[in-house]
Amino acid sequence: MGVESGDDWEYRFCPSEFCKVEVWLVTRHDLKAELWRVTAGAGNRPWIVAAIGPVCPYCGESLLTAVELEEGIGQSTDEDQEEGPLFEFLETLAV
Ligand SMILES: [Zn+2]
Repeated sequence: MGVESGDDWEYRFCPSEFCKVEVWLVTRHDLKAELWRVTAGAGNRPWIVAAIGPVCPYCGESLLTAVELEEGIGQSTDEDQEEGPLFEFLETLAV
């Protein structure tokens, strides 16, 4: 299984300063499950990560978007917890 060009890969950044790989490509593996594919780049074999959000396969840190990385590591966890109820609320409006 490689990196298919049709997939919607996003850049994520490992906040750990001990990690060799700072930039990862991630994509949702299954919309119904908390599974993510994480790879160091095209040509590399992706890891399948089971978590609420994509995490670094090397150090286990939550991978951050560029915005989250700028805002600070601590705030990203709080944002993840707020996403659940908000997402459900928006779904209710759509129905
Ligand atoms: Zn890492």
